[in-house]
Amino acid sequence: MSKLTKLIVTIGPSTDSEEKIKALIENGVNIIRFNFKHGDLDWHKERLERVKKVALEQNANIATLLDLQGPEIRLTMPFEQIELEQNEKIILSDKIFETKEKGFSLSSPEIINKLANEQKLSADDGLFKFTIQKENDLVYLISNSKGILKNKKSVNILDFDYDFPVIHDRDLEGLKLAKSHAIDFIALSFVRNANDIKILREEMRKIDFKANIVAKIETSTALKNIDEIIAEADAVMIARGDLGVEIPAEEVPFYQKNIIKKCMEKGVAVITATQMLESMISKPIATRAEVSDVANAVYDFTDAVMLSGETAMGSYPLEAINTMNKTISFTEDKNRLHDIRVDFDFDLQSQVQMISDSAFNLYKILKSKGKNIKGFIVFTQTGKTARMISRYKPHAPVFAFSLDPFVTKNLLINFGVVPIYHELYGTGQEILREDIIKALEQLEKLGAAEKGDLFIVTHGDYWAKETNASTIKLISF
Ligand code: PGA
Ligand code: MN
Repeated sequence: MSKLTKLIVTIGPSTDSEEKIKALIENGVNIIRFNFKHGDLDWHKERLERVKKVALEQNANIATLLDLQGPEIRLTMPFEQIELEQNEKIILSDKIFETKEKGFSLSSPEIINKLANEQKLSADDGLFKFTIQKENDLVYLISNSKGILKNKKSVNILDFDYDFPVIHDRDLEGLKLAKSHAIDFIALSFVRNANDIKILREEMRKIDFKANIVAKIETSTALKNIDEIIAEADAVMIARGDLGVEIPAEEVPFYQKNIIKKCMEKGVAVITATQMLESMISKPIATRAEVSDVANAVYDFTDAVMLSGETAMGSYPLEAINTMNKTISFTEDKNRLHDIRVDFDFDLQSQVQMISDSAFNLYKILKSKGKNIKGFIVFTQTGKTARMISRYKPHAPVFAFSLDPFVTKNLLINFGVVPIYHELYGTGQEILREDIIKALEQLEKLGAAEKGDLFIVTHGDYWAKETNASTIKLISF
């Protein structure tokens, strides 16, 4: 069986040629991520156009994701890099751009004056640690690490809750670019609470841009507000790189499982990200521990896994994708020692949730009787019914037919969902037997259905913007 867990890869110099983009698509990548924290506007614009062009040529249904900096802090300096010694004292100031003194500034320099003496700061995913030393009007950093610190690296300030803007000018430019290129997902870094997401949504509304929002969980504050964030976001990313700096690294696996469980219960897609195959940036084979990490994310029932540096600037991007694919497929196909879903408390309030729950139960019963279910067929105008079946992570694809091209893109993140654009049958708004026949024929063309295959069909009475799933059918093609 092909894989159900979705794969997101970050585009960069290692993967940005037409040929490589084609290879990404052919190797089962579902979403291409543009990391807006690197590269200038033109770089992204050009690659976005390239991705769209190749996807069109290949007739591939892939989505794009733009990862915004948000209230993330990065260091900036007028040098490519600086070499630091243990206990070295450097300056933290925006003035270094004139004076060229050894030190750095921050992407939001107004923060510098708010820092307290003795406060701890780290850079480059926690590799470099500093202590703030204030002297008169000047702010210094005492380096507690040795090594080469590069420009633009991430900065984390511990125990710091000064309120600085969620969306700054550059991200606004990013949103405009996203709109003009119809990007499907906007990820927001360093989300702290539901309000941060609301602010982004409002900025998007102002420019009349619609996309699904992915909340990146990478601050300790976000962990405290996780329930309201899951309620507000369209999807969630467990951004383990920065999260492992904000909280002790040994706590990250616990939160990974916890967040995935919470997202599953609500039916919100969740991405497990960062360092999954880190060593493959420079080596053609992954470590056993990395392969195990990917498999464990599948055991946790993540919707998607993500590659960052491995595909953006690594030497073996396709090998990394291949390692992902093989690990995912093998793991998904194995029976589990314990099915963790029995411990979950799936939210069952709306009609669509109840109908989807019943559809999944029918699937389980049939499976236990040895029946082979080829998949679910869902007619979904908003995507909701597809998401609500997908949240149970059935071991069969959810073919989601929608009249809305926006929905067919945004479902690409959800576990097992194969979104398909559906043309309205006849003139009516009613969902008809002909719609089912047409869907089956389409699946046959895609090689996903043969005569005699069993499907569970779920839909409402009408194609409607309000979710109204009301029917479950067991059909044989
Ligand atoms: P980043 O986010 O790669 O954009 O920093 C992911 C993470 O922090 O894990
Ligand atoms: Mn991050």
